[in-house]
Amino acid sequence: MTLKRKLIAGNWKMNASLSSNEELVKALVSGLSELKAKVGQQSLPEVLVCPPAPYWVQVAALLESSGIMLGAQDASEHDKGAYTGELSVSMLKEFKLGHVILGHSERRRYQFQNDSLICHKVSQAMKAGLTPILCVGETQDEREQGQTQPVIKRQVMSALSMLAADFDNVVVAYEPVWAIGTGLTATPAMAQEVHAYIRSLLESRTAHAQSLKILYGGSMNASNAQSLLAQPDVDGGLIGSAALSASDFLSIIAAAVAHNP
Ligand code: PEP
Repeated sequence: MTLKRKLIAGNWKMNASLSSNEELVKALVSGLSELKAKVGQQSLPEVLVCPPAPYWVQVAALLESSGIMLGAQDASEHDKGAYTGELSVSMLKEFKLGHVILGHSERRRYQFQNDSLICHKVSQAMKAGLTPILCVGETQDEREQGQTQPVIKRQVMSALSMLAADFDNVVVAYEPVWAIGTGLTATPAMAQEVHAYIRSLLESRTAHAQSLKILYGGSMNASNAQSLLAQPDVDGGLIGSAALSASDFLSIIAAAVAHNP
């Protein structure tokens, strides 16, 4: 297993305002700099926040020189044109975003995004040099029916199907749908089992599977982060609710320190 820095990513979803962003990001930047003074830059995980698009400029200015990265919550599979309401990968690039969440279960559910569409989005993001954070995960019913692995396999293999062999720039987030925003969390053992399976799927597509990050997402918080991040194939977290509180998000970042190489 390759040792790599963990990635702690915050998905703010549709939660933001000029004033709350300012308070959150200022507290995050100062908390992270205190942590850095204590443990050293090399022990910190990578940190990413994904605010709603109208706030990219504000948040980028607040993050200036903090080392915290900025990402988007979705992007179009098209280059440009008559696609009302969409955001292209070149727009993300123009605003210096490096990551984009794709295939989040809320986008699959409320925007009816399917595997084929998500595959085109992943391909589009990769062509632009962005790092896609591909979200996959089973529903409660699918887990109860023993369908976790077939569902994960279908979602992962389909999303990566347009990529050339040996790609080295994809992050996968395992987000069991039943754990998102519900307060229910996969146990560390459950998460590890699925992460190891995702790693094996990546191995069938690229020689870089060991160095790719697989994040866990689904009610990760200050109390459960430590044990989830201790799992060998859990390379970080994609955090929803707890990313909206600077102290909770900082606690998760601090929990990752202990498990960095
Ligand atoms: C998410 O939406 O990506 C997520 C993990 O949310 P929460 O942490 O609130 O479950």
